[in-house]
Amino acid sequence: MTHWSIRARLTMWYSLMLAAGLILFGGGVWFIVSHSLMHALDDTLAAQAQGVLTVISTEFDPAHPQHLDEELREYTDATPEGKLTEIRDPQGRAIVSSQTVALARTDASLSDGFGVQTANSARYRTFTTTAVAAGGRYRILVATPLDPTEATLHRARTLMLWALPAVLLIASAGGYWISRRALAPVDALTQAARSIGIRNLSQRLAVPGSGDELARLAETWNGMLARLESAVQRLSQFTADASHELRTPIALIRTTAELTLRRERPPETYRQALGQIAAESERMTRLVEDLLLLARADAGLPALPLQRIELTPLVRDVCQQGEVLARASHLELSAEVPEQPVYVQANDPALRRLLLLLLDNAVKYTPAGGRIVVKVDYDSTGSTVAVTDTGIGIPDSALPHVFERFYRVDESRNRDAGGAGLGLSIAKWIAERHHASIEAESESGRGSTFRVRFPLRS
Ligand code: ADP
Repeated sequence: MTHWSIRARLTMWYSLMLAAGLILFGGGVWFIVSHSLMHALDDTLAAQAQGVLTVISTEFDPAHPQHLDEELREYTDATPEGKLTEIRDPQGRAIVSSQTVALARTDASLSDGFGVQTANSARYRTFTTTAVAAGGRYRILVATPLDPTEATLHRARTLMLWALPAVLLIASAGGYWISRRALAPVDALTQAARSIGIRNLSQRLAVPGSGDELARLAETWNGMLARLESAVQRLSQFTADASHELRTPIALIRTTAELTLRRERPPETYRQALGQIAAESERMTRLVEDLLLLARADAGLPALPLQRIELTPLVRDVCQQGEVLARASHLELSAEVPEQPVYVQANDPALRRLLLLLLDNAVKYTPAGGRIVVKVDYDSTGSTVAVTDTGIGIPDSALPHVFERFYRVDESRNRDAGGAGLGLSIAKWIAERHHASIEAESESGRGSTFRVRFPLRS
């Protein structure tokens, strides 16, 4: 089956509708004109006949029948249409007769009314009527030539039959041209869209300045391209960062093994090297797990099942776990919780992981002797958990980026602490899954606060 272009279909429908419209219009005009012309003829004939009837009714005198005959002859001689008039008296004799048309057939059996007669190859419209005077029936026939009217109608019909296809042809060609012009930007958009691939996603479609549907279509396309471009960019950045992060522990494992194996060594050295390899492997395992979690998060994991949880016991629990880390780093860790229970809609293990990530960071980035406080609070808008430390803080320029994947404020300062810059992006993802927000406040050199805010419905 051939597929017609929109242009061809538009033109076809337009032409069909125009043809139907023109035929209806032409037919209507033809009908009205021919009817009114015939009506005009019939009116004239009726008026002619009326003139004769008036003469008969006024001039009839039973004492002098000849008088009426003379009056009628006089009347028909005086009127221009008199040559096409025939009048017969009650005995059937012609008082007035016409030479132009053969009206002799007019007799009593011929009924009154309009008709058409042909004489000398010309057509005439006729009107027959009867006048009654003193019981006698006078037959009257008047006629008028049909030819001029028929010639006019013929000319009009010829004109219409030629004009209709011509108008249709011109209008269809115009319609095709207009639809071609209107749809030309669609072709341009198609061409441009075809040339865009994964390698040149930064290219954009030209937006026509018309502000119409096509301009909106191009803008929508451009918006979609921008989103695709940034998604692809993020993806390749993520892959590059992930490979980069994995390269370091793998390189460390390899060099440690190679160096150790270069010559015979005492068992203690082997033990040490294997210990280093185990530690690096563990770091790698953690990294791969984090990467996996984020990759699955991107792929749209099923929603976390949330339930009503009391925050205070959970926070106390997490603090107990963090206590071990804090003590090892010579930090003071405390929890500040309100007396009333505070409930949120949460997933227990996920929320614990989020708080542990924040605590872990607080411990990592707070020098010995510092303080960490985990505070639960609530107000009319919802409840919050905040982890505050008196650590090294985050410079203002870095603050907006700390939740980005693989972002580290200072690469050198925390490689030792083991962070790959994924902790806060995981924390943010968990918060979002709780319909909660997470924000960071910090002052370089004085400490930071990370606050998770659960809206009231949580
Ligand atoms: P990492 O695994 O490197 O800690 P995160 O995503 O958890 O990665 O944190 C991103 C960066 O934000 C960290 O590299 C660190 O520089 C900064 N950061 C996070 N938490 C704190 C904090 N409590 N104090 C100071 N800096 C912080």
